[in-house]
Amino acid sequence: MVEFLKDLILHLSIILSLGFMYNFLLMQKRAVYHKQYFKLSILAALLLTMAFPVRFEAGMEFDLKLIPVFIAFFYLSKTDGILLVAVMLILKGFVDFGGLTVTAINYAIIVILFFAIEKMYQNSSVKKKIALGLFVYSLITSTRLAALINSGNQQEYLYLLVFSIVSFIALSATIYIIEMTNFQLKMMHELHKAEKFSAISQLAASVAHEIRNPMTTIRGFMQVLQGERNLSDDQNLFISISLQELDRTQTIIDNFLSLAKPNTGSTAKMNLSSLLKEIIDFMRSYSHLANTELVEGIEKELWIRADAHEIRQVFINIIKNGIEAMPGGGSIYIIAKMDRGQVKVQFRDEGVGMSKAQLERLGNPYYSTKEKGTGLGLMISYDIVHRMRGRIIVDSEEGKGTTFTILLPCE
Ligand code: ADP
Ligand code: MG
Repeated sequence: MVEFLKDLILHLSIILSLGFMYNFLLMQKRAVYHKQYFKLSILAALLLTMAFPVRFEAGMEFDLKLIPVFIAFFYLSKTDGILLVAVMLILKGFVDFGGLTVTAINYAIIVILFFAIEKMYQNSSVKKKIALGLFVYSLITSTRLAALINSGNQQEYLYLLVFSIVSFIALSATIYIIEMTNFQLKMMHELHKAEKFSAISQLAASVAHEIRNPMTTIRGFMQVLQGERNLSDDQNLFISISLQELDRTQTIIDNFLSLAKPNTGSTAKMNLSSLLKEIIDFMRSYSHLANTELVEGIEKELWIRADAHEIRQVFINIIKNGIEAMPGGGSIYIIAKMDRGQVKVQFRDEGVGMSKAQLERLGNPYYSTKEKGTGLGLMISYDIVHRMRGRIIVDSEEGKGTTFTILLPCE
């Protein structure tokens, strides 16, 4: 029994070191996450747990190799998981050729099971993930139990029970540590974003005002110049381009300022349906110029609480982005309706779409793929919608199009 417990403790620490290794690699050495180090750690854990299996009194041997396989499959990739199973089977062939067939069949079933639950696993909460781990493990335990009964080693039930509990603790703890590490990283990410955000808004407040006044003066004089009669065509063109560029600068500054504007709280109950219709009418001429169509399906009597100026800005930004995403023309479908107690506004375009990496950067300040873009429109929109306690969900497929869904609390 003492030997048995000693073995168990050894295995527990081998497996737990995996979780700590993950945490160490990501949190401490975060600058560069060497995935291959984690792969190596998993391989090492597999080798160690196989090299020193837990021996039951009557001679049966078990180890925890399922856990490294589990972690590789769900936290590296399916391919890595399968590779690890292959490595494991080869090793097994060397050590215990007789038992190879049984192990191979077992793991074939396990891998199929993993494939079946993979999608569900990735979308689950931590608790549910641990529950899924328990489910997989209880299946294994029952096959082990069957093996025990078959070999007539009934007195070893207690060993199996202790062994299974320890295995399960090891698996749960590893899942938990890895998930918590991911969670912490995500929080840090958000924090960085928020920090950038507040730095920008502070800058905006001080600089934007200073720039606005001289710009108004310049614009005024330019307009006076434009009124001159004896200008050449070239001069006229230059002046109108300058005016356009000034206007563009003006919108950038306005965007800045609205970002810096603290939450004034000047919200009111308003009819989103009519506001949206008004905005669509306003955008129609712009969209026609770009050879795009705005198609609407808006339910009546959708009420929200918002700052009219701000919510306008959000919708205009998103429609404008949609139009700009369709250089060859197309349609934007705008749908607004009640959805599970919330107001849902959806903008679907048939534009260029975005890759996963692009989606991830969405809403970051100055992130723009356009030559004349500011990369502020969406950041401001996210901020506005968040302050209204709403949510923006983006679905996109490269080459197919993008859907922006905005969920807002209804009034
Ligand atoms: P800007 O429009 O000035 O570039 P935004 O913050 O509005 O800044 O948008 C940031 C970036 O997000 C865009 O440059 C574009 O790459 C991407 N994007 C936004 N909306 C869409 C869309 N509907 N389809 C494809 N890409 C989009
Ligand atoms: Mg934009």
